[in-house]
Amino acid sequence: MNKRALEIKKSLSAAGYRLTRPRQAVIEVIACARRSLSPAEVLNRARKRDPRIGLATVYRTLEMLQREGFLDRVGIGSQGYVLMCTEQGLHFHLVCERCRTVTELRASRSLVHRLRRSGFISHRSAIEIVGICARCQRKCAAER
Ligand SMILES: [Zn+2]
Ligand SMILES: [Zn+2]
Repeated sequence: MNKRALEIKKSLSAAGYRLTRPRQAVIEVIACARRSLSPAEVLNRARKRDPRIGLATVYRTLEMLQREGFLDRVGIGSQGYVLMCTEQGLHFHLVCERCRTVTELRASRSLVHRLRRSGFISHRSAIEIVGICARCQRKCAAER
């Protein structure tokens, strides 16, 4: 099993959450994903692990993961996508609007320092930058 999925499950059960099979399926899907996923995509993938799972369970599990700080939401266009966050502190999400890959980039020390000095307390520590990733740019150039 995916190591990240295992860590998350451990930490959630330590926090008192019941890890039902559908919940576990959602956790595994998100932990294995290489790009951001829409809730409907999470549902499709989770159904391969547990066919009984429904969209309501997907949403509830996503909320639980977000509350516990394992998940980030990214907005691409009008759509909402989710991904597993691996960075704890202040960082950037470089979101590709073509392939929806999200690359995490840690903020520089000086930026973290300036934020602290401003006295502002942030609840959400990821900054989103939407654009086109290097791979998609190369693909575009090749198609021209
Ligand atoms: Zn992140
Ligand atoms: Zn891309």
